[in-house]
Amino acid sequence: DWFFADHTQAVCRALTGAGHQALFVGGCVRNALLGAPVTDIDIATDARPEQVMNLAAAAGLKPVPTGFEHGTVTVVAGHLPHEVTTFRRDVETFGRHAVVAFADTAEEDAHRRDFTMNALYATPGGEVIDPLGGLPDLVARRVRFIDDADARIREDYLRILRFFRFHAWYGDPEGGLDASGLAACAANVGGLEKLSRERVGVEIKKLLSAPDPGQSVAAMDQSGVLSHSLPGAVSRLLPVLVHLEKGWGMAPDPMRRLAALGGEDHAERLRLSKAEARKLDRLRDAVGGSAGAAELGYRLGSEAACDVVLLRATATGAPPSEDARDQIAEGAAAEFPLTASDLMPDHTGPALGARLKELEARWIASGFRLTREQLLG
Ligand code: ATP
Ligand code: MG
Repeated sequence: DWFFADHTQAVCRALTGAGHQALFVGGCVRNALLGAPVTDIDIATDARPEQVMNLAAAAGLKPVPTGFEHGTVTVVAGHLPHEVTTFRRDVETFGRHAVVAFADTAEEDAHRRDFTMNALYATPGGEVIDPLGGLPDLVARRVRFIDDADARIREDYLRILRFFRFHAWYGDPEGGLDASGLAACAANVGGLEKLSRERVGVEIKKLLSAPDPGQSVAAMDQSGVLSHSLPGAVSRLLPVLVHLEKGWGMAPDPMRRLAALGGEDHAERLRLSKAEARKLDRLRDAVGGSAGAAELGYRLGSEAACDVVLLRATATGAPPSEDARDQIAEGAAAEFPLTASDLMPDHTGPALGARLKELEARWIASGFRLTREQLLG
């Protein structure tokens, strides 16, 4: 496991060998306890950032000061990045912004984290340290704010979106969302406007990548969080899409889910990448278009074609036809037998492109059956 991997233990030893604490914290501990995959490793320490730099370098590791003023040094060892961050505590709150200072204990550090299940620590030997009662919450799959939810949200409104995101991934669908946390989120929706688009985009995409974000998104809708982060979006159809995805064995995809939510301007509001924005646009255009499954497979490839067929079924309530998947596969495998040079020199310039398109449409309509000779003849 990552926990006992040589390079990870080496990062810890660089610190503990000099008498400092090295504690795994946050998502890596939470996911290890849940048996879920771990993508990045956070280590908390009482060593100050400059000490972390020196100790890691002296141990032959490669420390990079990725967030030095926040106390973070990234040590790349093995294939996973290790983010080593000095313990911090909130000194006081000036207006809405917490002023942080370095601290000496995990207890102090725990209080400035967001949810109890994200404030679990583990020693390099694997002993869990739970200063705030996160373990019972994790077992009950309850996403609970640390200390006063309302005050914590006003320090950082992104915690509203993180509340729904972590519930979607790790919460208990039977028990639903923590009522006091939900009420605090609803009371503070206006604060979402103050967040940078990048941060909102990251959280929304992670939320919509959960296996089944339906309950979280419905709660966001009811509490006003959805309309303040994705204007015009509605949660109603998402469970239908998720159900269809499961039937077709398709992995969660945030752009497909975003398309099912509807609404305006997601590319801008979430600062989507060019590739993401293009994908979303193509899905929306194709869902509104009239191309059948085979043509979609040919034009978009099988993955995007499946997205479109499921999104149409979601919107209309009519399940996709039995043979839609075969048609998509057939279209995706088909290769148009002509190229521009086949039509030259009889056609040139814009007329050439138009003629080629016309023949391609005829070929698609034939179920990809017309041959080169038939098309040219
Ligand atoms: P994952 O990496 O799977 O998304 P994670 O729990 O590691 O989950 P990160 O966003 O990587 O989430 O943050 C790491 C840890 O830092 C969290 O577990 C939490 O303890 C703390 N943290 C991150 N963002 C905030 C925040 N906005 N407010 C308070 N604590 C935070
Ligand atoms: Mg993380």
